[in-house]
Amino acid sequence: MANPSLLILAGDGIGPEVMDQVKRIIGWFGDKRDLTFDVSEDLVGGAAYDAHGVPLHDDTMAKAQEVDAVLLGAVGGPKYDNLDFSVKPERGLLRLRKEMDLFANLRPAQCFDALADFSSLKKDIVSGLDIMIVRELTSGVYFGEPRGIHIEDNMRVGINTQRYTEAEIERATRAAFDLAMKRNKKVCSMEKANVMESGILWRDVVTEIHADYPEVELSHMYADNGAMQLVRAPKQFDVILTDNLFGDILSDCAAMLTGSLGMLPSASLGLPMANGRPKAMYEPVHGSAPDITGQGKANPIACILSFAMALRYSFDEGAEADRLEAAIEKVLADGARTADLMGPEGGTPLSTTQMGDVILAA
Ligand code: ATP
Ligand code: MG
Repeated sequence: MANPSLLILAGDGIGPEVMDQVKRIIGWFGDKRDLTFDVSEDLVGGAAYDAHGVPLHDDTMAKAQEVDAVLLGAVGGPKYDNLDFSVKPERGLLRLRKEMDLFANLRPAQCFDALADFSSLKKDIVSGLDIMIVRELTSGVYFGEPRGIHIEDNMRVGINTQRYTEAEIERATRAAFDLAMKRNKKVCSMEKANVMESGILWRDVVTEIHADYPEVELSHMYADNGAMQLVRAPKQFDVILTDNLFGDILSDCAAMLTGSLGMLPSASLGLPMANGRPKAMYEPVHGSAPDITGQGKANPIACILSFAMALRYSFDEGAEADRLEAAIEKVLADGARTADLMGPEGGTPLSTTQMGDVILAA
């Protein structure tokens, strides 16, 4: 069988710096675990603009559609701030998401014990936390029509429309249930069915699709209660399924349960391809971090954990993903820290490459 294929788009700023460490780890899996990927690399964002005058070349877009998974670093930076909107680096990322139709955004909130003090909550509330928010990413109030600011009775009125079709809810729901089958078979769906029609439909469709996943334990919660429960007792959850707007808020909330931006991975999934794998793009939650670019300070863990998600969700290599996450857990427990993970007690932080070194050694 052909090796699984991976397109690396390192992008701008610290993107290439953190991606260098991921490339070493991909090499390690080939050498030591006989798990070899066909890796190709290309440009995105400002780097693509510099080379081609566009933030994503058509050839790169075509490649992204063909590979088993895309791994992206970060895009943007002050150098590109004054560019025309149509060629801004971020447009490259948006084009990838849109043309690959990546409708399910997966944001884990996983608390490594050694970093539990970084959480905004008490240690016992977050230690051992490992939950996943599945946010619908291509519809809802961000896109619904009508929208705009109109004049009515000599007064301005701002209008947005929360709109979901059955099909949109169904595909996000299936992504969440499929994911739950690879995790702990537990899904909590969050909406506001008490005040929103789209919430009523959401709850109906999720309940209907659940019939195809009898092994999964399903519960429903109003999103406001969900926000409260996330902060009060987050370990009661495993997979949380929610819409675009609630997902935006709930995933940022969940992110702060775990601490540093340098630790947070994400995945965006689309429909299954001919080989059964979903269209997929994996990327750290953080941006290009221009303030620390070129200084060897960036924490590569968010990007490495994004690759671990690719192992688990695109390549069915859950045991190898566990292996990689265990190595990260171990080095953190041993005290390995990049600058962003240093507490007030100080000490000498590891560089990006040194963090890669210790993870490889572990
Ligand atoms: P974007 O608009 O692309 O999301 P941003 O300006 O909102 O970018 P980041 O680029 O993620 O956000 O940076 C926010 C802050 O977090 C910066 O101070 C940056 O240095 C820090 N930061 C982000 N990622 C990392 C990382 N991997 N390691 C260390 N510090 C990081
Ligand atoms: Mg940002």
